[in-house]
Amino acid sequence: MNRLPVRVELDKRGIDMDSIRCHVCNDDIESVEHILLKCPFAKELWKRVFNWWNLESQSYTSLDDMFKGKKLPSNSSKLLQAIEWICGYTIWQNINQVVFQKKKGTAHMALNDIQKVSKPEAIAN
Ligand SMILES: [Zn+2]
Repeated sequence: MNRLPVRVELDKRGIDMDSIRCHVCNDDIESVEHILLKCPFAKELWKRVFNWWNLESQSYTSLDDMFKGKKLPSNSSKLLQAIEWICGYTIWQNINQVVFQKKKGTAHMALNDIQKVSKPEAIAN
């Protein structure tokens, strides 16, 4: 719903920004879709998450795209959806670290964080 306070949304609300480019990569406008799907940090993290789940790597083109079209058994599908939400939250945490602590994380570190809070093998058994 474009409610995350990314730079392009803050700019639309009249908040004077020095730039609306992505805090993480500075390669594109910082929109919700960019930070969650298209930013190189997010792309690398999604790739690692799919690899962790032994899934063919996908490149999401939109947020709707992300939640459709997975051919997994329903229990696995629900677990993967939970992992996707955790992944999105982790990406948002990374942006906040960049903005407020001037500290960039890596996709490797982010995946470790995701794996710490989500243990599908423990839930599945
Ligand atoms: Zn970016």
